[in-house]
Amino acid sequence: MRRDCAQGLASVLVVMLAASAAGCTGPPRPPAGARPTPASRTAGITQRPRAAADPGVRRSMLLGYSVRHRRIVAIEIGDPDSLARALIVGCIDGNEPAGIAIATTLAGGPPPAEADLWIIPDLNPDGVAAGTLANSHGVRLNRNFPYQWQPLGPPGSASYAGPRPLSEPETRIAAALIKRLRPRLTIYYHQPLTVVDDSQGPQAIERRYAELTGLPRRPLTDYPGSAAGWQDTLLGPTAFVVELPAGSLSPASARRDAAAVADVLPRG
Ligand SMILES: [Zn+2]
Repeated sequence: MRRDCAQGLASVLVVMLAASAAGCTGPPRPPAGARPTPASRTAGITQRPRAAADPGVRRSMLLGYSVRHRRIVAIEIGDPDSLARALIVGCIDGNEPAGIAIATTLAGGPPPAEADLWIIPDLNPDGVAAGTLANSHGVRLNRNFPYQWQPLGPPGSASYAGPRPLSEPETRIAAALIKRLRPRLTIYYHQPLTVVDDSQGPQAIERRYAELTGLPRRPLTDYPGSAAGWQDTLLGPTAFVVELPAGSLSPASARRDAAAVADVLPRG
């Protein structure tokens, strides 16, 4: 069922944009609102400018656009030369946005010294704007990855997996980034089950995360088309889900989870 998508690869525009935090590094920003041009595209991470003198980069990159042309951005903090890469996705189901607060807390925190941490605060900005689980095509992104993909649900239903794997720009953006980064750890935040998934992923890290946050750990259903299932199949046990409580996170809770992420980051 796995199906690579050249269109998806092309959509991962590792284009340096305005770094949102002070002290950022990176090339000059294009004009505000500018669309990336072919000349501004790079072949990816291996060709980005090195920051050998500054192991603690903090920079923001435009990865691509949602169905409704909202920006999907990643923030990279830490040592860009480290192979200990990790990815945090604050939100993939649009009506489960609490993890965005963890992502932004991490993005504003100290860069890890021995890891390269990538943060996508919001992979589904159309869903967040509309308050819907799915993206603007009505596709549940976490059923659209090429992991045992099945044509689940009719269009408009909560389980609609889309017409084919990686049919959506949002999932193509995530899949292409993951294939390029090959992160040793990826965490996806969901709501509202209040549990750390006891998954086929990195179980020691799941246990540690649960200990640090006080969240219970138990197995969640392994759905076809899920992002974590796809990554675990591609890269080995590296991805898992944290289900946060319903509602928005308090700043203290966001800091607690951000600290847990910092604790479990790979190092090297
Ligand atoms: Zn969810």
